[in-house]
Amino acid sequence: MLAAKQIRDSFIDFFQQKGHTSIPSSPIVPVNDETLLFANAGMNQFKDIFLGLVPSQYPRAVNSQKCLRVSGKHNDLEEVGKDTYHHTFFEMLGNWSFNDYFKAEAIRWAWELLTEVWGIDQDRLWATVFAGDQNEGLPADNEAAELWTKVTSISAERVLAFGKKDNFWEMGETGPCGPCSEIHIDLGPDACDKKTVRYHKCQVNGDCARFIELWNLVFIQFNRQADGKLLPLSAKYVDTGAGLERVVAVLQHKKSNYDTDLFMPIISRASEISGHKYTAALGNKTDNAFRVIADHIRAVVFAITDGATPSNEGRGYVIRRILRRASRFGRELGMHEPFIYKLVPVVVECLGNAFGEIEERADYVSTVIEAEEASFGRTLDRGIEIFAAAAKRAAKTADKTITGEDAFQLYDTYGFPLDLTQLMAEERDLKVDTAKFEQLMEEQRQRARLAQKTEMLLRYFSGSEGPAFPKTDDKYKYETGHCESKIIGYFDNKGPKKEGRIRVGEDAGIVLDKTCFYAEMGGQVGDCGVIESKEGRFVVDRTVGLLDYIIHAGKMVEGSLAVGDKVTAIVSKDRYATKKNHTATHLLQWALQNVLGKSVSQQGSYVGPDYLRFDFTYPKAPTSEQIREIEKLVREKITADLPVTCVVMPREKAEKLGAMALFGEKYGNEVRVVGLGAEADDKIHEAFSKEFCGGTHVDRLGTIGGFKITKEESISAGVRRITALTGSGLMDYLEKASDIVDELSAMLKVPSEGLVERVEQLIKDNKQLTKKLKTAARAAGSDIMTEAKKLLENCEKIGEAHIIIGKVSTDSVESAREAVDMLKKKAKSAVIVLGFEEDDKATLLAGATDDIVKRGLKAGDIVKSIAPIIDGGGGGRPQMAQAGGKDPAKIREALTKASELIKEKLKSP
Ligand code: ATP
Ligand code: MG
Repeated sequence: MLAAKQIRDSFIDFFQQKGHTSIPSSPIVPVNDETLLFANAGMNQFKDIFLGLVPSQYPRAVNSQKCLRVSGKHNDLEEVGKDTYHHTFFEMLGNWSFNDYFKAEAIRWAWELLTEVWGIDQDRLWATVFAGDQNEGLPADNEAAELWTKVTSISAERVLAFGKKDNFWEMGETGPCGPCSEIHIDLGPDACDKKTVRYHKCQVNGDCARFIELWNLVFIQFNRQADGKLLPLSAKYVDTGAGLERVVAVLQHKKSNYDTDLFMPIISRASEISGHKYTAALGNKTDNAFRVIADHIRAVVFAITDGATPSNEGRGYVIRRILRRASRFGRELGMHEPFIYKLVPVVVECLGNAFGEIEERADYVSTVIEAEEASFGRTLDRGIEIFAAAAKRAAKTADKTITGEDAFQLYDTYGFPLDLTQLMAEERDLKVDTAKFEQLMEEQRQRARLAQKTEMLLRYFSGSEGPAFPKTDDKYKYETGHCESKIIGYFDNKGPKKEGRIRVGEDAGIVLDKTCFYAEMGGQVGDCGVIESKEGRFVVDRTVGLLDYIIHAGKMVEGSLAVGDKVTAIVSKDRYATKKNHTATHLLQWALQNVLGKSVSQQGSYVGPDYLRFDFTYPKAPTSEQIREIEKLVREKITADLPVTCVVMPREKAEKLGAMALFGEKYGNEVRVVGLGAEADDKIHEAFSKEFCGGTHVDRLGTIGGFKITKEESISAGVRRITALTGSGLMDYLEKASDIVDELSAMLKVPSEGLVERVEQLIKDNKQLTKKLKTAARAAGSDIMTEAKKLLENCEKIGEAHIIIGKVSTDSVESAREAVDMLKKKAKSAVIVLGFEEDDKATLLAGATDDIVKRGLKAGDIVKSIAPIIDGGGGGRPQMAQAGGKDPAKIREALTKASELIKEKLKSP
């Protein structure tokens, strides 16, 4: 039996032999495509080619594409677990022709692979073609229908024609489109899932589990115009997609995709962890939970690996929803603690050999999943109770509907995504008032939006007529720290002004026609400086971009300046320090990837004149050796004084160069790439570090002057933060450190080289002295035996029995026991309770002579009843018992209690 990996490989091999270039899957989180949350088909990455925007690099291609169908046009989330062949995450095997071969080859090769290479019985296969649509003016695809019987051995009655819904593919309202031809497999009458449904049609496209679509061949041959008309495309494309999981199930002779080696290892592990058995039955709650969890963990591993993280919006929220759904299904398996993250290694085992990235980032992914499970887990059980109450109320209503308010409370307070509430409602045949829920959500969004400062600023500044000022030309920020400009307007606390004068003492935000000031962006702080003329001097303490223009915010410190004035804008020298820190941040990222691996990716940064901070994904704390190594790599580059080049180029070129982009950032068609170590602009491909970046940088690395990491910490699950210094910030730091060393040196009267040794010696001496002090104190009369004897001399008696109770000073239980034994011998008849403290711990010892034990008073009982007072526990024999606890301050209280107990017992007859 072929393993899934062999099946995937055989698909690729087959088409490589037919002249196709094997290409990698595009990331499941699309890069630079805002129209799509997640890749959902193999064609996504070729969209621009089909639209005729870019040429293709090869005439034929083949791959296995990572797909996620959980949102938008393709959403199979509800099906997962209920059937055997719809997943959220799946692999789509595809072959493509970019204006090269067309229908005949596509059909012939698909058939050849299925029946000859993979040996599927051709009598189980059906083909479908497009029947045409008169209303839409779409012709039937007779060409494909004829080809099926001509180039394959399929019999004519197994080629069926269907309408637009099943057999016509369109990318959108307009654009490339064309008929498609699908291949379905008949899994036999047993697989029919609608046996009892009266009017059910057990046939292809009959919505029956007996017939499953394996492969879709799309022939892109038209372009739909805005007026709805179809024009033939001059370039034609073949776009195919076959679901790997379905093919594997067929080739491994399994009834369900979940029974294959793509899922079984995950299910087995979940079964081991939970102690529940998987029986592969459909419609069974426990089995369903296994399937859902196995499906969802794959989806989450791939999505997080490719850059999505659980959050409250967009892609992040989709991932959060899937994970929370999985957590809730975990409750069906009795799992109340985080456990889904434990499945990550199995997913890596199953798929790491085809998608190396999941292996690389496995630790990070586990950390993120565990943190998310833990945080949801805290409210999930309570949420389930709240849901149960809401469901109970709903069951009593006429329309059996959970109110929007309840659904919203579950969302807002207990973190239940709406679809989770719906799913749980559906299990009880209830509905959810989603309209009300959406209304409440929208109200909440409004409130949040109002609170958003930038949004308010925008409304305030841009007025009702749109942007108040034209675009500021700020290209000078890369070239100079000085420039001659003109004031074209300003903001004061009443809004934008296109004329007027700013007077001494007034706060304002000046807008210039052109500027060399850098506005806050990409982690780099905005510049400070001055704007001045003979008339006045304005100190800028913050520069921010708003819409297209740049605002220099600050205060008029001398004279006044008016709109229309010619001024000089001068950036503060701080900018030099900021530049050093910015370039050093790039060096740091490069070094981090070298030392910790490629999975390190930037999560955020702060670049100011004083220091730099860099946040990145990494599952655990780097070791101190790794930190040293990172510093060493950065310093080597600084010492080598390599050049820095900044080149503006088309985004695609930058991507091809392998320049690192900030994840989730939207870039335009033109981007600026900062390269370290390339000798000239046209050699930027030789740079050892290349990043998309709009910031300001030094010209040569030597200028940075030095580098030191001053702090490394964790800021959230899987995210670390490094703080570092360069240039004058580093100098200040070193100066301070060296002052401290000088001071210590003077105090201890040793040269600085001897300091460490000297301090070590002092610590050692100190320890010894403390010990000596203790021994001396004991020798001077606080010996436990002496103390014990004193207790005996002063003790109370009831009849013949001595009641000896007290606190003693010792640090060993043995000596305390000896004291108890000694007291027993001396007193002949006695109950003894001693307490002592040592190192923040409390110990109580009790002893009783045999005659006392005979009277029913046992040392073990005494200890048991007083141990809780010192926050501890203990016990022992009737003659001798002991307890330890964490609260030495309560020893006296415990002893008093003991005394009361004993007296009570001995007095009663
Ligand atoms: P179906 O009707 O079975 O949902 P589809 O028409 O949505 O399939 P296509 O969009 O044509 O499928 O995708 C191409 C191939 O990808 C399908 O033939 C099928 O083998 C596979 N596929 C589609 N959706 C899924 C899914 N949710 N899980 C697993 N495989 C899928
Ligand atoms: Mg579908």
